[in-house]
Amino acid sequence: MTLELYNTLTNQKEEFEATEDGLVRIYSCGQTIYDDMHVGNAKTYAAWDILNRYLEWKGYDVFHVMNITDVGHLTDDADRGEDKVEKAAKERSLEPMELVTEQVRKWYREMDELNMKRHNVNPRATGHMMEMIEAVESIMENGYAYEENGSVYFDVEKFNKDHGYPKLGGRTLEALETGAGGRVSEKELDEKRSPYDFALWIKADPEHIMKWHSPWSLGYPGWHLECSVMGLKYLGERFDIHSGGVDHIFPHHPNERAQNIAIEDLDHEPVNYWLHSEHITVEGEKMSKSKGNFYTVSELLEKYEPEVIRTFFASIHYRSQSDFSLEALEESEKKLKKFRTTLRNIEEAKDGDKNDLSEDIDRVKREFEKAMDDDLNTPSSISKLLGFCTRINKKLDNKRSILDRAKETLIELLNVLGIKMEKPTKGEKVRDIDPYIRLLLEVRENLRDKKEYELADKIRDELKGLGIQVEDSEEGFRWYSAD
Ligand code: AMP
Ligand code: ZN
Repeated sequence: MTLELYNTLTNQKEEFEATEDGLVRIYSCGQTIYDDMHVGNAKTYAAWDILNRYLEWKGYDVFHVMNITDVGHLTDDADRGEDKVEKAAKERSLEPMELVTEQVRKWYREMDELNMKRHNVNPRATGHMMEMIEAVESIMENGYAYEENGSVYFDVEKFNKDHGYPKLGGRTLEALETGAGGRVSEKELDEKRSPYDFALWIKADPEHIMKWHSPWSLGYPGWHLECSVMGLKYLGERFDIHSGGVDHIFPHHPNERAQNIAIEDLDHEPVNYWLHSEHITVEGEKMSKSKGNFYTVSELLEKYEPEVIRTFFASIHYRSQSDFSLEALEESEKKLKKFRTTLRNIEEAKDGDKNDLSEDIDRVKREFEKAMDDDLNTPSSISKLLGFCTRINKKLDNKRSILDRAKETLIELLNVLGIKMEKPTKGEKVRDIDPYIRLLLEVRENLRDKKEYELADKIRDELKGLGIQVEDSEEGFRWYSAD
C-alpha cells in the first residue's frame, strides 16, 4: 500500500516517494522559544511525530530536524515590532539567552512527557549566525537581494519573474496583490522596494540586545532565514518533507522556499512535499499566545495523563481544525480507557480454544494502514482500533497465543499514533531525566544485578524522597514521578 500526502505545493494528495531509497528527510518548523508550549503547538508537533513514526512503521529510516527559534521572530510579520524572545526576556528581567535556556529545557521535558520521538537535530538560530550571513551573501551574489541602510531585503518581484512566488498553496503574487491573504495593505514601505520584499538581515536599533556583526551592519537575521539555512545544512538541497502550521503557508514557507532556491541557485524544487497542520481553536478562534486564549501543555499535564492528550491529538486529522475543550479531552480519556481495559481483559483471560480473532488481527492491520496511507487519517485509524477492541472483548475465549498477538498488535498500532501502552522495558526513559536521578537509578540497578538488595532498597527509598517512585518487574524496572 502506498502513502499519499496532501502537498500544499501542488494543492493535491500525492503518492509519497522518498528521494533516497529507504530514507526520509523531514524538516519541521518548531517553537519560538519565548514562552511555554501551548496545546496548539503540541498538536502540530504531534502530527509530525505521527508522520515520523508511521514512516518508520512502513520501513523507512527517518532523519527529522525541528528547529528552535531563539532570535529573529518579530511580533509583526512584516519585519516590524520587537523580537519575541528579547521582549519576553525584558519583561522578566532576564538575559535573552537565560530565558531561552530555561524555555528550551522546559520544552524538551514536555516533549518527552508527551512521548514525542526525539528529533535527530534541534538546531537553534543563534547557533547558525555565520551560515545565515553566508546565505545572505549568496542571495545577493545571485541577484535576489539588495542592501538598504544596513538592512538586506529579498527582492520578491525579481524572484517571482524567474521562479514564481509564492507558489505554495497554488497562489501567485498577482493573486496575493489583488486578493486577501497578503500583507500588501498600504503600509509604509520604509526601505523596501516592494511591500512583498522581506528582511534577510535587519540593522539593529542601538537598544537592541541580540545583535551580531555582519558585512552590512550590527544586526540580526530575518525570521525566515534560519529555516532555509538549517534545512539546507542538515537535509540538503532537495529533501523530502517540510512541515509546519497553516499559519506558515504564507509568508514563512514561500519565503523559505524562495531563499533556498536563491541561496543555492537551484533549478529544482528544494522540498518535495510541503505539509501544513490546521489550527487548534478555542471557541472558534486560533489558540495563540498573543490572543491569550491558550492552555499550556504544562497546565494540562498537571490534570491529564500524557496518553489522554496524545489520544486527543490522534483523534483529530492534522488538516482539520478542531476546537479544544476539556470535554474533548474527557472524550479522549474514554477512548484510552477502552484501550486499557481491553489490554487488561486480554491479560486476565483464560486460555480458550478458539482462533477466530486471528482474522480480526489481520483486518485491523489492513484497515489501519489504509487509513494512515490516506494522508495520515488518524481519526479513522483510532476508530478502527476501537472497533478492534470491541471485537477482542467479544472473543476473549481465543487461544492464548492469539490473544497475545491481538495485544501486541493493539500496542504496536497505538504506538504509531504516539499513544504509549507498552510496559517500559529495563532502563527505559532513564536517559530523559535529571542526570543525578539517572545515576541513582543506574547504581540501584547495578546493585540489584549483584543481589545487593539492602543498599538498592535504600536508594529506592531515597529516590522516593526525591519524588521518584520505582517499581520492579520481570522486564526490569519502571519509574515515575510520585506526585
Ligand atoms: P510558534 O512558536 O508560534 O512559532 O509556533 C510553533 C508551531 O506551532 C508552528 O508550527 C505553528 O504553526 C504551530 N501553531 C501555533 N499555534 C497553533 C495552533 N493554535 N494550532 C496548531 N498549531 C499551532
Ligand atoms: Zn520555519
